[in-house]
Amino acid sequence: MPAFPQPFTSTVSHWQATNRGPTSLWNHGRDDPLPETADYVIIGAGITGASLAYQLTRPGAAGEGKTVVVLEAKDVASCASGRNGGHIAPRSWDLMGSLTAPLWEGPGGNEVRGSGLTPEEALDVYFFELDNLDLVEDIVKTEKLDVDFWKGSRLEVFSTTAGADKTRENLVAFKKAHAASAKHRSRPAQWEHVDDATEAKNVSRVTDAIALNKGPGGSWHPHRGTMALLRLALESPCSDFRLLSWTPVMSLEQVDGSGWSVDCGTRGQIKAPRVVLCTNAYTRHLFQDDLAAGQGVPAHLVPYRGHAGLVVPPTTFAGRNSLGTTYGFENGAYLISTVHSGLVLGPYWQAVLDTGLGTMSDIFFLEDDSVVVPKFREWIETFCKDRYRGWGPENRSEGPVHAWTGIMGVSVDLLPLVGPVPGKPGLLAAVGYSGHGMAMVVNITRCLAAMLRNEADDRSAAVVWDPRLPRSFEITEKRLKRAPHLAKAFSDPVGPVQTTSRS
Ligand SMILES: Cc1cc2nc3c(=O)[nH]c(=O)nc-3n(C[C@H](O)[C@H](O)[C@H](O)COP(=O)(O)OP(=O)(O)OC[C@H]3O[C@@H](n4cnc5c(N)ncnc54)[C@H](O)[C@@H]3O)c2cc1C
Repeated sequence: MPAFPQPFTSTVSHWQATNRGPTSLWNHGRDDPLPETADYVIIGAGITGASLAYQLTRPGAAGEGKTVVVLEAKDVASCASGRNGGHIAPRSWDLMGSLTAPLWEGPGGNEVRGSGLTPEEALDVYFFELDNLDLVEDIVKTEKLDVDFWKGSRLEVFSTTAGADKTRENLVAFKKAHAASAKHRSRPAQWEHVDDATEAKNVSRVTDAIALNKGPGGSWHPHRGTMALLRLALESPCSDFRLLSWTPVMSLEQVDGSGWSVDCGTRGQIKAPRVVLCTNAYTRHLFQDDLAAGQGVPAHLVPYRGHAGLVVPPTTFAGRNSLGTTYGFENGAYLISTVHSGLVLGPYWQAVLDTGLGTMSDIFFLEDDSVVVPKFREWIETFCKDRYRGWGPENRSEGPVHAWTGIMGVSVDLLPLVGPVPGKPGLLAAVGYSGHGMAMVVNITRCLAAMLRNEADDRSAAVVWDPRLPRSFEITEKRLKRAPHLAKAFSDPVGPVQTTSRS
């Protein structure tokens, strides 16, 4: 069944609510006629589709002199990209722990699961995320984007002995892998570890901190960021670029020898030799056959509903006393300070499960972002005053002011799916960031655009992998075949995908 049009009205995030001015792209192209053909069709105008459109329409890129079309089911950044935490957060060596942990092997439940990578492959991802933050900064500065971009430090705060022990273990494994890696050892790790509880409390201002990791972090207004990239594509001097919002793709059909026919229902059809899926959690609705067969890209992606909220801090946490870093809390929140408005935070999925805030069926296999579940709202409302030292009383209109939900696409091996889709010539994808897309997407789409540039001259040749892109992101038959087995780790005893909330 198609995901769009949706039978509900989505919540409005802080980001969507604060980007309504004349340069925003609400309703852009919703009444424009569809071209009959295009060279590149991108499905989805979240950060992935927007960033790919930007990259493809630069002078010298694959889209130079070509028609590039973005089809978006709703408005630009109306899904995860306009509803997230705004955190552009490369992860510390703790990333190494989950990437090198074995793939899930047991039935159901809440077991440790990982990606099964070698330490060297995990290092590729570690440095790729650091590069992503630098690349976002570079684009924001070069293009002079007004998107509330901020770059500084991120703290990973630990409050349990088990958590502090685990991160030290991951640090030891990281150091060993880093020293042994001919490819990466000359690059600085950029993260440091604080083991002293008093120092951890002083640095973080968190009451129960006993250790922390400190490294690079960034944030931006993700709704403005996504729209800004699409505006640059619209202004491209060298590509014929079209953005059609409120144009849901209902199905895709392979056309012998000429690529794909993209059916947009009453909006029309487009034929294109290259189609790129930037549809994240909703990809599963496009290929029912793949889903039924339990293979393919759709079976590899589990929709996951996250909550986030905006908290206006009391003046004890404003001005000179405002938080100077972003945060990731063990068993807690991701949290950023917006440039003007307050703090945006929400619970990580592992925190939801580990603290008993919710169960698997409260988060996975849900696609309804029209609701805010009371227990999640309460958690967001009390988080800061419970955790920050000296938070102080909240006056009227301070404290929690806004909460919303959004749908992410969890990849069942916790690695994104990027590049050509096996068995479907001319079809590519960039999906499945498991709630961490802002930390990778801009770099992923830069590499994907470079791969399309390389093949543009010779379409008969196989797409040449961009060496900057971790090979573990490649969509291989092997990964797709193991998807149904791994998906059981996220499976819900109640039943299959729901399009309305069960909470
Ligand atoms: C509450 C929450 C908090 C998060 N916090 C963070 C964070 O702090 N840091 C971080 O790195 N990541 C975070 N994430 C994850 C991050 O937002 C995502 O990884 C990222 O936005 C994915 O971008 P995307 O463009 O691939 O997907 P989306 O933004 O979901 O975009 C996909 C687009 O495709 C469109 N689409 C789908 N199917 C069709 C179709 N058939 N036809 C036409 N269009 C279609 C959709 O309408 C949608 O606009 C968070 C997500 C949520 C929900």
